[in-house]
Amino acid sequence: MSGPREGMKFWFGMYPSITFADGKCHVIPGFGNTGLFETSEGLVVFDVPIKQNALKTFNEIRNKTDKPVKYLIFSHGHFDHAFGFGPFLEEIREKGWEMPEIIGHENCVRRFNKYKMLEQYHNWINSQQFASVAPKDKTVATVSPKHSLEPTILMIGNEAKHSFNLGGVEFNLFHDKGETDDSIWMWIEEKETICTGDLLLSSFPNIGNPYKVQRYPLDWALALEKMIEKEAKFLIPGHGKFIEGREKVKDALSITSEAMHFVHDEVVKRLNEGKWFEQIYHEMMEIFPDKFKKHHMLSPIYGCYRFAIHATYRLYHGWYNTGNPTDLFPAKSNDIATELLKINDARSYLNHAVSLFEKDNFQLALHIIDIVLKGREKVTDDLYLDALILKSKILKKKATAEPSFIAANIIKNAVNQFKEEINILKQKLVK
Ligand SMILES: [Zn+2]
Repeated sequence: MSGPREGMKFWFGMYPSITFADGKCHVIPGFGNTGLFETSEGLVVFDVPIKQNALKTFNEIRNKTDKPVKYLIFSHGHFDHAFGFGPFLEEIREKGWEMPEIIGHENCVRRFNKYKMLEQYHNWINSQQFASVAPKDKTVATVSPKHSLEPTILMIGNEAKHSFNLGGVEFNLFHDKGETDDSIWMWIEEKETICTGDLLLSSFPNIGNPYKVQRYPLDWALALEKMIEKEAKFLIPGHGKFIEGREKVKDALSITSEAMHFVHDEVVKRLNEGKWFEQIYHEMMEIFPDKFKKHHMLSPIYGCYRFAIHATYRLYHGWYNTGNPTDLFPAKSNDIATELLKINDARSYLNHAVSLFEKDNFQLALHIIDIVLKGREKVTDDLYLDALILKSKILKKKATAEPSFIAANIIKNAVNQFKEEINILKQKLVK
């Protein structure tokens, strides 16, 4: 079986752990994946999963080996790569072992500090982004940034590299920007293995995430090219399927790098042609090559091409997106809608939205419905209710057709919000 749903199963790490190379290397799948390397002097662990997966990952490691962890590397400081360390620390305390070295980039420490400063805000955006898998009780934080594990070895600067030897095995770490500015990837020549962190996923790169800060398409492409040079045989991605075989590894890295170059270069070209976001976006939707569209490594199940266009534009451009001075200091959208409702009544707009909907022109229908919804003060309860129901219906259809987990969650969140509003209004109208 394949397709987006099956893809998500792998993406969330729901497959058995895999032992490879000389039998001393393992991938422990989770949200995200952990790379485990056994040496005669102890273990090297590349990434720990999100806190909720920590015990499962820990137990799987302990089913394979009882050696102490000597090095723990954070590919970056996201919640799903650097916070599932609890069971390891507990074990260290119980057994009286020495703490392992924790390796991270200096920007990882800045990230942890930022998370502490913005804890409530991040809880909120993560509850939106992960709504379909988040705890129903919205007061339960997915992970608290209060309990972070500070790196003991810091990789400093943009060109940072770090190598260490454990039990005669050489581990090489490199910093490159991509999904984040604190990324580290690992190359183990003796094992012919690369651990990429989120620089590679079984999905279109998560670049241009609508909720998250700037990400780096060109650096990302270049990082993948550096990985290609290693000619690895095994690749542990940050999320999704373990990749085995020199050709498969090369293909996964190459196609992802190519896609990042494509998005980057095409946006840059259009910026140089003096185009604004709307034109760039719609033109780029027309030219996305089939070889990317059809490639399993680039399926838009989490991040997607549409988001990537935003990422590149935002990297080089400020927030003035349209070139239309009307939009520089715009009026409130509710006030604009109220004025439009003085020209034509809500029923006419709604009828027009219905006709667009019936022609499957969902997006334009949404824009017209919003005039009715945003002009709430000018609209009777029953018309407002009809508009809400129509919008909800359209969004449900869009959510069903939406391959991106993040985009689908954004749409579903609105549907859930409308559900409550619709019920309240229905009860009010019955009375
Ligand atoms: Zn991740």
